[in-house]
Formats: sequence, C-alpha cells, structure tokens
Amino acid sequence: DPQVAKFVYDFTEGNKDLKDLLGGKGANLAEMTNLGLPVPPGFTITTEACKVYLESGTEPVALRDEVSAHLDALEQRMGKKVGQADDPLLVSVRSGAKFSMPGMMDTVLNIGLSDKSVQGLAKQANNERFAWDSYRRLIQMFGKTVLDVDGELFEDELEKAKRAKKVTVDTDLDAADLKKLVTKFKKIVKAEAGRDFPQDAREQLDLAIHAVFDSWNTDRAKLYRRQERIPGDLGTAVNICSMVFGNLGPDSGTGVAFTRDPASGHAGVYGDYLQDAQGEDVVAGIRNTVPLAELESIDKKSYDQLMQIMTTLETHYKDLCDIEFTIERGQLWMLQTRVGKRTAGAAFRIATQLVDQGLIDEAEALQRVTGAQLAQLMFPRFDDSAKVELLGRGIAASPGAAVGKAVFDSYTAVKWSRSGEKVILIRRETNPDDLDGMIAAEGILTSRGGKTSHAAVVARGMGKTCVCGAEDLEVDTKRRRMTVGGTVIEEGDVVSIDGSTGKVYLGEVPVVPSPVVEYFEGRMHAGADDADELVGAVHRIMAYADRVRRLRVRANADNAEDALRARRFGAQGIGLCRTEHMFLGERREMVEHLILADTDEERENALKELLPLQKKDFVELFEAMDGLPVTVRLLDPPLHEFLPDITELSVRVALAESRQDANENDLRLLQAVHRLHEQNPMLGLRGVRLGLVIPGLFAMQVRAIAEAAAERKNAKGDPRAEIMIPLVGTVQELEIVRDEAEKVIAEVEQRTGVELKLALGTMIELPRAALTAGQIAEAAEFFSFGTNDLTQTVWGFSRDDVEASFFTAYLEKGIFGVSPFETIDKDGVGSLVRNAVEAGRKTRPDLKLGVCGEHGGDPESVHFFHEVGLDYVSCSPFRIPVARLEAGRAAS
Ligand code: PEP
Ligand code: MG
Repeated sequence: DPQVAKFVYDFTEGNKDLKDLLGGKGANLAEMTNLGLPVPPGFTITTEACKVYLESGTEPVALRDEVSAHLDALEQRMGKKVGQADDPLLVSVRSGAKFSMPGMMDTVLNIGLSDKSVQGLAKQANNERFAWDSYRRLIQMFGKTVLDVDGELFEDELEKAKRAKKVTVDTDLDAADLKKLVTKFKKIVKAEAGRDFPQDAREQLDLAIHAVFDSWNTDRAKLYRRQERIPGDLGTAVNICSMVFGNLGPDSGTGVAFTRDPASGHAGVYGDYLQDAQGEDVVAGIRNTVPLAELESIDKKSYDQLMQIMTTLETHYKDLCDIEFTIERGQLWMLQTRVGKRTAGAAFRIATQLVDQGLIDEAEALQRVTGAQLAQLMFPRFDDSAKVELLGRGIAASPGAAVGKAVFDSYTAVKWSRSGEKVILIRRETNPDDLDGMIAAEGILTSRGGKTSHAAVVARGMGKTCVCGAEDLEVDTKRRRMTVGGTVIEEGDVVSIDGSTGKVYLGEVPVVPSPVVEYFEGRMHAGADDADELVGAVHRIMAYADRVRRLRVRANADNAEDALRARRFGAQGIGLCRTEHMFLGERREMVEHLILADTDEERENALKELLPLQKKDFVELFEAMDGLPVTVRLLDPPLHEFLPDITELSVRVALAESRQDANENDLRLLQAVHRLHEQNPMLGLRGVRLGLVIPGLFAMQVRAIAEAAAERKNAKGDPRAEIMIPLVGTVQELEIVRDEAEKVIAEVEQRTGVELKLALGTMIELPRAALTAGQIAEAAEFFSFGTNDLTQTVWGFSRDDVEASFFTAYLEKGIFGVSPFETIDKDGVGSLVRNAVEAGRKTRPDLKLGVCGEHGGDPESVHFFHEVGLDYVSCSPFRIPVARLEAGRAAS
C-alpha cells in the first residue's frame, strides 16, 4: 500500500493537525507553507520512519529513495544541489517530536559543506569569512550531536583562537582564523570519533537523520518522557529545510517574536532582533539583541511583512504564537512557529481577550487555562514596586515568594528554624540527606540542576518555594557562604527567592498577597488597572466553569473560620470534618481521661466532659455552613496520638522512680501507652474499630451532632449534617455503628421534638471496602472515598514515611512522574474507585458519592472523578477555586 509506505512529506503536503506523524515543528512548518507564508522549502521524515528505525535498527527500505526524490525536487526548486562544489545547496536537519522535549538532539545547520564546496559558497556569497564560519559551525554541531564528540573541545579551541588574537567576540575572527579553526576542528573529530569528518553531502545528511532518530532513546530523553508521561513509542520526526542565512551582512539578521506580550497578553510588538547573525547567536547571547520594534528603522519592508504575518498567524491559530524568523539580504523567512508559552496570568488574560475578539468561544477559553496556572496565581508575590537588589537568576522550580536567612546545611536550617528563624536553605544541589533542612526552610535555592533535580521535585511535592540551577551563585558549603559576582553572602544574611520567576534577591523583599486571592476573599473586584484586569479575566472564566461543571465542590474543614473562608472561595458544603482535630490542645487531657478510664463510670464521666465541647464545635460549623451539607467524620486516629511520647514518658517515670517520687497518674499513663503501642498504628486501632471497642465514644459524637443540629433548627437555621464512619472494611462494622447511632438520634429527636433527617454514610478507604462496596451500600446513604488511606493500603506505602524515604528515587527513576498521594493512580487505586461506584449505585441508585482525600483538589484527579461519575470532590479551602475550574474543564 503506497499510503503506508509514505515516509516523507514535503512542507506543502502536511498541516498543523498532523503532529502525530510530522511532529510539532514539521506540522507547523507545513501549515505556514500552506498559508502562503515565506517558509524555506523543505520536507519532513515521519515519526513512522523513526519507529521502524528504532524497532529494527535500520531505516525502512523505502526511506532512502523517498528522501532522494524529495531532495531532487528541492534541488530543482532551488536551482542548486547539495554538495555542489561551485554553488552548494545547504540544508538544516532538526528533530521535532509531537511534544517538545528538552534533552533531545535539536539541530545541525549547514549540511552540504565540504572542503570543496566551502570555496563555492565563498564565491557565491562573495564572502570568505561567512563561508568558513558556516563550515566551522557545521563541523562543530555535527561533531557534537551526530558523532558524540565532547562539545567543550570545540569551544576550547574557539576560545584559544580568540585569546591568541586578543579579541572577545566570534565576529572579530576573520576568514583566515576560521580556516585554521576548521583544520583544528577536523583534527578533533578524527581523534575523538575515530573517523574523518564526512565530505560527502548525502552521507552527512543520512548520518544526521540517524542521529535524530537515535536521540529519541538517550537516557535523558527517556527519563524526561517517563516523568512527563509521554509514551516511549511515539518517535520523532526529522525536518530537512533549505538554509537561509541571517549572517550575510547588515541587511541580514535573525530574530524571535511573539504575536502578543506573553506576560500580559497585551497586543504590541514583542521580540528581539539581531543583525548579521544566525539563530544560535541569539540564544547564545554573544552579542546584544535589539527590541523587535527597531527592525522598523533597520528594514521597513521586512518589518511590515512580519507584522502582517503575525496577524495572519494569530487569526489562523486563534492563539498567541511564538515565531523564529531570518532575514537574508532583505528577504524575510519564517523558520518556526508554535502556540507560545505564557505566564499563568497571561493565560487567563489572553483567553478572555480572544473571546472578546470573537476568535474563540467561552468553552474554548476554559480549555486555554489550567488549575495549575490558577494555583500559581494564588501564591503571594513579591511587591513589584519594591526596590530590589537582584543577585542572580535560576530556574523557577516551585512557585511562591520566600524570604529568610541564608543557611548552607540542613543541620543549621533545622536548628535555626526551631529557634523561630526563617531560613532559606542554599546548596549546590540537594540530596535525600537534606530533607530535614528542606522541611525546616521557607525556601530552597540551589546552583545546580534543573526542573527535575532532587531539590525541584521534592520542593514541588512539599509545596515549598524553590529556585534551582542558579549558576551564577558560587556556593561554598565549607565556608558557609556564597559569592555572586563580587558580592559575598554569609550565613545569616537575608535573601529572598521567587519560585515563580527564578529570581534571587539580596535582603528582604516585601511580599504582597495575590490579587486573585483578594478577589476570592471578596476584598477586590474586577476593574480596569492591571491587577484588576487579571481579576476580571479570572472572574469570567470561573463563572463559566461554574456554569458548566457537574461536580460539586466541598471543603475539608473542621472549624468555623476555615468553613467561612471555604464558602467565600465557592465551597458548596463540607465534605470532611475531621473531629480528631477538635480533640487537640487543652482538650487532650480529657481524651487522656477517657483512655485511662478503668471503670464504666470513669469513662462515662470523661465522655460527659467532652460532649458539650463537641456540640459547641458543631453548632458553630453548622452555622457557618448554613443551608449546605456538612459531613462530620467520627473519630479516626490511633489513640496513642493523644498520649505522651513513649520514650519521654519512660524517662520521666524512671527519673521520678529513682528519686522515689513517681506519681500515680504518670504510672497509669505509661501503662496505657504500653498497652496501646502498635507496630503499625496506621493499620491498627483507629477509625470504626475505636468506636467498636470504646463503648460510648461514637454515641457521644453522634449525640453532639444531633443536639447541635436540633439547636440550629430551633434557632431557625438550616443545618444539613451527615455522619460519616471512617475506615470501614465490612458492612457488619457499619451495621453495628448504625444501629447505635440511629437510637441516639431517635432519642434526641424525641427529647427535642425536632425532626433531624441526618444521613449516615461511610468512607471507602480500604481495599476491602471498595471490593465489597455493593454490600456496604446496604447500610450507607453515601460513600466518600478516602483516597489517602486507599492509596496507602492499595500500594502498601506508608503515607507518613515514603515521601521522605524512597519516593525521590522512584521519581528519579521515572517509576511514577508524580507521587500517587498527589495525583490519583488511575490504573490501581482508580480502578477500585470505579468499581465501587458501580457496585454501590447498583445496590442503592441514589447513593451519594464523593471524595475527600487530598486528590479532591488535584487537577488531574478531578478530571478522573468527573469521569467516574462522582457527585462531588472535597478539598482544602485554598484549593477550592482550582477544583471548581478543573471540574468545569472536565465537563466542557
Ligand atoms: C483519606 O484517608 O483519604 C482521608 C480523607 O482521611 P484521612 O486523611 O483523615 O485519613
Ligand atoms: Mg483516612
């Protein structure tokens, strides 16, 4: 079938929707070609060809002839041949996968130059220096990316040449210098690669194509894919494009541009231009670029054409595009375009701007923003108007604004933070030994490593501000200081780091609250100035998300203050009130009495003490959430959490005994601690098990809920309490608790004369509960998936330990790209959820279903919960807007 055998597409044959086949770069080059924009002619080898090559070790048989045919056609069109001695056609070879992937081979320019054709190029261009510089670049790029020669070796020679001539920039080297450099470069290739630099143009081309194929499977590329969950079998396309030159003199140049400001979204001219230069020069920062607007006075014709093309692209892609272009002797060429990256704020602004321009509708606008971007906008920021002293810049690895005293080791970080100091942990790079310090610090700063370095991965996991890879900083751990340029920062000096921009400042930069949070809090409204404009965009998109979403969003909150904040943030109830949080602080002693009770009477007294306090808590909570459901979970954690630490208490008692004044209570306490001590408390006496072995405990809590609800009703309120039983594994447990609870409720109803209608349900947080959900639904009016415990028990991962022990290794090895405690493991934990939903609804069609584990506020997980048909997600108050937005995105 000739269709199947087609491995090469001319730019005129593809389009932007063929990213699977042509990669992102190839698909967009084709799209621009077909829009009639000036793209240098070329063709794309498909990802299919790459797949065959990777599977079989050789390129598909048909590929060679297809490349030849397309090359012939290209040569005909250009009127010259690759490798032609008197006037060579030069081509670039670029990788281009469906998803852009740092860590993959990128580009080889000037393919087709040789010892012979370099002379022809010099004559044709009437420029010796240009020709030898082009050849020098080819050997350097080819040597490094195709023949695996250490790139430093070439750089060193280049530096030597400049030093010998006492010049600092490449452009000060003349043709003779470059010619000598070419000889040196060829020697390096021979010595390092064990072969001569190939003089045959077609051999150069074929080797470069294979190198691009091979680059799909480098360790770095594989790791990146595992972490980003990009399938390993997509393969990369290869783009072969006729060269145009921006380095032919002052009427040539190269630049990058955005169709609108990627920071604000505002229309205007944004980009940089560099006269007499080739693409890499802009990136390498060898000479200073000028703002794109200046191109107007340099070359008005090209400038006007570029502006027109940008409008065409934006209208066509209906989005902000970024582009790379080159001007060769007054002729403009487009080298690349793609939908451009943007800041979180710009994403919201651009989406609404495009709606106003009539380019996209609201449903599309909702897809143009993400919960992660919204979360970023909700971090506090440094005050823009503050005077700052910039020390350097690294990679924005984990957002936020952190200020603290510089410390250079974990031990000091912990020590200082214990004494109340705020610290920034500064390391060359971090490793698992730094964990305590990272936890203690306000933020983490490293001079090495990228977005997937240990520091970055762990900091993001902890939600802690992090800037990594700030290479200008010289961190000297031994002398406890760092130097940047001439500035020395000693231990204890204050620094400020911005995890959203990667900037590092000396001294304390004032922090301002996020305007988006101010808006959610009701303290700021949409208006005209800059922050207001952002708020206006967020407001519109949130309104749309709320209109279309099916999932309701509730909060995990256990006091009135959190409940009220959650309500302001849009919560439609409380999905989880953890009552154990109400037993801490000064009430801990009352719980101690309960645990130490030897007789029924002692126990009943202890419970009587607790009852009014619990009731008051619930009255406040029901009032704060008046009219909305409040799910109260009965006591869950192991009892030893309410008792003193076993070692401390043992020491205290031993000391007292040696002085012969041991007190009776301490001795009893120690006995109780020993009695309740468990090897695996997470799998021990907690949840419903507590309620079953401590008579009266759950009854007291149910009574407090029922009495509080009755009191609110009598006060003309609208309490909607739901009682939830934790850690149920079998329906029998639930039935026993249920019978007892129903008796208590009936008794309160009778005594107060108020009808309460309290719903009774359970958490599904053990594999057995999920597997027997059909039976459990007989006794439960609702399920709430406790995906924290469910993840813990399905994986056999201790939720309190793993993040600090082996998760970093797992993340680094790409076993998962993100912790399963953060994003739901769809295949494992998720499949139990899916089955339990189905089985539960089969037993009880009106069963209400929600989730209250941490996953309830995680963007990707929210989409999953929408898909499996839950009624609501519940998450911490601060994450409610993110959950609302993602629920809307999932539904539209
Ligand atoms: C859960 O296990 O998912 C849950 C919400 O309960 P907790 O985190 O309190 O154990
Ligand atoms: Mg739990």
